[in-house]
Amino acid sequence: MKNINATIIAAMLMLICGTAYAQSAQQQRLTNHVYFLASDSLRGRDAGSTDAAKAAAYIAQQFEEIGIEPYFEGGWYQGFEYAGRSCKNVVGIIHGADTALKHELIVIGAHYDHLGVSKNGKIYNGADDNASGTATIIEMARILKDKPLKRSVMIAAFDAEEKGLHGSVALAKRLDVSNVKLMMSIDMVGWLHKGKALQLNGAATIMDGKTLLNQTARRMQLKVDVRNFETSLITATDTRSFARKNVPTLAVTTGLKSPYHKPEDDAELIDYEGLDQITNYLAEVTEQLANAPDLQASGRIAPVHSDSRRAFSIGPTASVVKGRIAFPDAAFDGRSRYGFEVGIVAQLRLIKHLSLEAKVLYAHHNAKLPNANNLYNSYLPLHQEAVMVPAGLLLRMADEFGIDLYCGLGGYYGRVLKASISGQPTAAINTNQYGLAWSVGMEFGRLRMGCEWRYQLNPLFVGEGMPNAKHRTAVFNVGWMF
Ligand SMILES: [Zn+2]
Repeated sequence: MKNINATIIAAMLMLICGTAYAQSAQQQRLTNHVYFLASDSLRGRDAGSTDAAKAAAYIAQQFEEIGIEPYFEGGWYQGFEYAGRSCKNVVGIIHGADTALKHELIVIGAHYDHLGVSKNGKIYNGADDNASGTATIIEMARILKDKPLKRSVMIAAFDAEEKGLHGSVALAKRLDVSNVKLMMSIDMVGWLHKGKALQLNGAATIMDGKTLLNQTARRMQLKVDVRNFETSLITATDTRSFARKNVPTLAVTTGLKSPYHKPEDDAELIDYEGLDQITNYLAEVTEQLANAPDLQASGRIAPVHSDSRRAFSIGPTASVVKGRIAFPDAAFDGRSRYGFEVGIVAQLRLIKHLSLEAKVLYAHHNAKLPNANNLYNSYLPLHQEAVMVPAGLLLRMADEFGIDLYCGLGGYYGRVLKASISGQPTAAINTNQYGLAWSVGMEFGRLRMGCEWRYQLNPLFVGEGMPNAKHRTAVFNVGWMF
């Protein structure tokens, strides 16, 4: 307790000494919330820790004092397990008054967990990330509680965001998401002074979203940067858990201006005047959304949120191919040359982490053959034009931050259409080629990129007296899955 008191006294002193202008009572409360949540005594609010539980208790106590109601029957907390720890979201509700619309929800969320303490004892206080957003939703609740609202507004403080959005996933699972008209995640909003404008990502997920957000900002004299969709993969936030269930989402942030995921992300660096303005603005926007006669989803979801693991997907792919001819029985070897492939890739999901993948590719492969007259210093260009069909099983790894990693194992068949050596057509090349293929890669939303290696098993050359040779290829590919 001693530490907490010291922090509060420090905060008070800062307020008294460092403030020349008149602060609103709300700005003072925002400051107090951030200083408490980002104090050393909360030790970085690591998900599911006793420190995070202190933060959760603080948030619940604030909700209680403000006079909003717990959403769940059992109280303020929605408990869930993550990595053997019991984590909890703090969830309150402001009930709408319109009989036809009150079952519809606008979810206002912010994660309150952060990274805890490093191995060498450094505390990640996470003032911007995300004591700032947590403070904002507390004060938004206070404003909205006294407004006449038609739709209901849920205020949710999430645990275990930093570990992979687990809190918001748990909440999205518990709700009937067809009633959620918009989910707004407020994550890192404490650096308006350096970011210059408040970023609102996802305006195109609802009808007329851009107009509403811009007009309100103009009226309230807040600089905003309204974007149609979220694009960042690195800073994926709790919107993802709802967007993946086709709920319109808005991610609100002042950007990556603070010492992101560093121990220096401290309370004294936060722009509290900006935080105050942002709180007023977001409360106003929420009120308008809650009362809009017609609040409709546009049906568009950010590509970074689209679930790449649908049952069946297909799309174009293009590759750069490095080809080489190996002579397993000889002391000499071929040299590599580049070629390309274009075609389509199709995937069928078998079970959660396993897919079947097949490609049909039109390929131009090149390599350099050793010249029989001067084995080590002179090479002849080999060119093959072929239809390649690689197919196999793809094992997918966790997609914690919207990135699916995969590795694949299978085989390929190639039908050679034309072949030439030093520009002269040749019949010495086997027209039917097959072998093993393996791959690794990743998918972000619909974009995929990866590497594939192919290892020919049957002979490259046909005919008497030809050396044993195998085609080896390394492929770098990019693709887009629809
Ligand atoms: Zn965050």
